[in-house]
Amino acid sequence: MANPNQKIVYTKLFINNAFVDAQSGKKFATLNPVTGKTLAEVAEADKADVDLAVSAAKKAFERGSEWRNLDASQRGRLINKLADLIEEHKTELASLEVLDNGKPFAEADFDIQCSIDTFRYYAGWCDKIHGNTIPADGGSLAVTLKEAVGVVGQIIPWNYPLLMLAWKFAPALAAGCTIVLKPAEQTPLSALFAAALSKQAGFPDGVINVVPGFGETAGHAIVNHPDVRKVAFTGSTEVGRIIAETAAKSNLKKVSLELGGKSPLVVMEDVDLDEAVEIAHNALFANHGQCCCCGSRTFVQEKVYDAFVAKSVELTLKRKVGNPFSTDVQQGPQIDAESQQKILKYIELGKKEGAKLECGGKKWSNEGYFVEPTIFSSVTDNMTIAQEEIFGPVQSILKFKTLDEVIERANKTTYGLAAGILTKNIDWAFTFARAVEAGSVWINCFDATTAQTPFGGYKQSGHGRELGEDGLEPYLETKTIVVKLPTKN
Ligand code: ADP
Repeated sequence: MANPNQKIVYTKLFINNAFVDAQSGKKFATLNPVTGKTLAEVAEADKADVDLAVSAAKKAFERGSEWRNLDASQRGRLINKLADLIEEHKTELASLEVLDNGKPFAEADFDIQCSIDTFRYYAGWCDKIHGNTIPADGGSLAVTLKEAVGVVGQIIPWNYPLLMLAWKFAPALAAGCTIVLKPAEQTPLSALFAAALSKQAGFPDGVINVVPGFGETAGHAIVNHPDVRKVAFTGSTEVGRIIAETAAKSNLKKVSLELGGKSPLVVMEDVDLDEAVEIAHNALFANHGQCCCCGSRTFVQEKVYDAFVAKSVELTLKRKVGNPFSTDVQQGPQIDAESQQKILKYIELGKKEGAKLECGGKKWSNEGYFVEPTIFSSVTDNMTIAQEEIFGPVQSILKFKTLDEVIERANKTTYGLAAGILTKNIDWAFTFARAVEAGSVWINCFDATTAQTPFGGYKQSGHGRELGEDGLEPYLETKTIVVKLPTKN
């Protein structure tokens, strides 16, 4: 049962398997976005704390350490144990997520389940990561080993707090890396709870470290640290660029980036309209539009455009906004005041640039950070709302005539994270899937992301892939060993 009074137990930094205060003694407030009031004061990490965390992670990765000496299968068992503990504490974690992030309980509960699935998926990989034997020229014997890159820094956003942690922790641990993770400053609570569970699961000291704090201080210190071999980041394209630059200038550490998107969802004229309206609605409004791969450009073919808009408005007006702990609520508050203001600014721009506001458009309630579910029709490609990431509950519906036209328009963006097409015509579906520049393409569904399927962006939506077998790659080095043999056999 969802618990609006969930106790907040863990508020300190987690370094070397212990909860500790920040060296500076500083704390920061994490807010409840429903009320804007402080939920808890959390220890604020800075460079000195990151240095301690990296040094613990480095020690845990040293040759001969307990972690390095574990059998790969044993690593898998530890990861599975962590998944079991998360499952055992699912309601507490989901309740914390609702308090700290504002998403409806059912969505938070689903996120925790997806986190468990991610840990279990990668637990299975641990003893199946292996290299090749290679018929090299010159009669030598060549083999490759897949080795962990070492200490990894991980920086995550606030939109799916525990799930983003799982996407980062699970492949890194499966590969045998050690971790320093910074949760987003808006949502540190579930990461600290997970850290406590990792200790209970039995991970050795220093393998997992969690340092809440701000991006420009703690985050920068991780990315700039000479002993961090790789950084995995999920967040905005703007910050992704800073991270790539900082990483290049420090020790040229490896970087994987999962960044923003402006994903097209194309609705062809042969669809079942009610079904299509619902898929497009959920593609945008899920998690209050705060999803990097949300279907934020709904392209609808001319013949069904007007009916599609009318049905979308009808559905959106029914959307229940309110306290995310109420079981009938589908939409809670946005994450913070800054985000709410930014969304309202985009709505004003939409109106000014000539889009037709069909419903919503204002803030909802004077308390907290709510925004009404909003729809714009008659949106054209040049409008700011069709180009920039709004990260809020604002659906833009665009009209198109032909498949070729929509492919060209779908690709006319600096982003390339995801795309979708709804149609019964297999030729249309696959022509689009092949031509669209996006890391994930969903046919007759949207955001069908699972632990087994790689996820990541083309163009400025990122580097590298998370999830699936590809998701291990950023955490591994390939070592080639060549043995010179005396004779050819
Ligand atoms: P959003 O726009 O979704 O809040 P951000 O990209 O601003 O996403 O933040 C995502 C994560 O990146 C957060 O954990 C944040 O603290 C961190 N971050 C922000 N700026 C920096 C930076 N300069 N260096 C490292 N991390 C940063």
